[in-house]
Amino acid sequence: MNVTKRDYYEVLGVSRDADEQGLKGAYRKLALKYHPDRNPGDGAAEEKFKEAAEAYSILTDPQKRAAYDRFGHAGVQGAAGQGGFDPSAFQDFGDIFGDLFGFGDLFGGGSKRRNRAQRGDDVRYDLQITFEDMMRGMTADIKVPRMDQCRRCHGKGAEPEDGLTTCPMCHGRGEVVYQQSFLSVRRTCNQCGGRGQIIRRPCQDCRGEGYVRTERKLNIKIPPGVDTGTQLRLANEGQPGVNGGPNGDLYVVISVKEHPVYERHEENLHCRLPINIAQAALGADVQIYTFDGPQMVKVPEGTQSGNSVRLRGLGVPRLNSHGRGDLVVHVDVKIPSKLTREQRKLFEQLGEMLPNESETGEKGIFEKVKDYFV
Ligand SMILES: [Zn+2]
Ligand SMILES: [Zn+2]
Repeated sequence: MNVTKRDYYEVLGVSRDADEQGLKGAYRKLALKYHPDRNPGDGAAEEKFKEAAEAYSILTDPQKRAAYDRFGHAGVQGAAGQGGFDPSAFQDFGDIFGDLFGFGDLFGGGSKRRNRAQRGDDVRYDLQITFEDMMRGMTADIKVPRMDQCRRCHGKGAEPEDGLTTCPMCHGRGEVVYQQSFLSVRRTCNQCGGRGQIIRRPCQDCRGEGYVRTERKLNIKIPPGVDTGTQLRLANEGQPGVNGGPNGDLYVVISVKEHPVYERHEENLHCRLPINIAQAALGADVQIYTFDGPQMVKVPEGTQSGNSVRLRGLGVPRLNSHGRGDLVVHVDVKIPSKLTREQRKLFEQLGEMLPNESETGEKGIFEKVKDYFV
């Protein structure tokens, strides 16, 4: 008998470029609809249920999916099993269904997950640095709290000599055979999590957890140019993996303190330079203190308040690149608020000589808008 098999994508009702989430969602919907518990005695539903499980198991396996995409069903023949498909064969069952219909229990989803190698959690570490350290780069000694495998029990959680005993539930086999509706399933033993042994005497050092809280000292290099929000990733320095899985990563999240004089915008530094009215009119060389030592700022003759002078290459170092931004000096012309008698006399003389600004130009600026006010 040659039964024509339906296309796996068609079975799940997804497009050919569906991602894992899409597959999972589609499969979940179908499996819940056609689950034997909801359709007792309905052979067609049971077939559909198995068909969806098979499609899902092939398409979520990158290698099998690639083979299927190239060669169709011929490419994955045997992979799905000729004599019917065993849904318990794939790991994610418990993840998808959780405890709906008691699936987690049926397939030992929960305990299987505990047993599987898992990557450790990522850890975030917040580090505040000064503006100067941001400009120059630095190394920092940090202490990161993390869980380490207990040395006394090597992560087993039991006293080294006689802490473990054979699991009474599975008699050391690590799995139990279950019968439910049409399925006969071997599932991981719940009591021992598949290890075949249970803890009789918990480890003294970790109280049976297998892990102990420690503090890890790290010396980290912070490159110049980081900004508030910059994340430095230290691979493998996060929480340890479970069941032989890899460690997570450590993310050092930077925040930079404000500086009383300098402000940063992207790669440029900005500061204000107060000068007096004579310096603005006549021009002046003014010394300022920068992260590169004292620098002379040339204020040109006739400088207006708000004008700026740019010192090239004295700004923020570019992160992960070469060169630096600029230092932009914003000139702030200070008008004296209090005058001595002598200064007042001089300003009065000056005032008589200076043109009335509102009437200068081709046509005074108020001249232009006068019509609006009458
Ligand atoms: Zn221990
Ligand atoms: Zn057991």
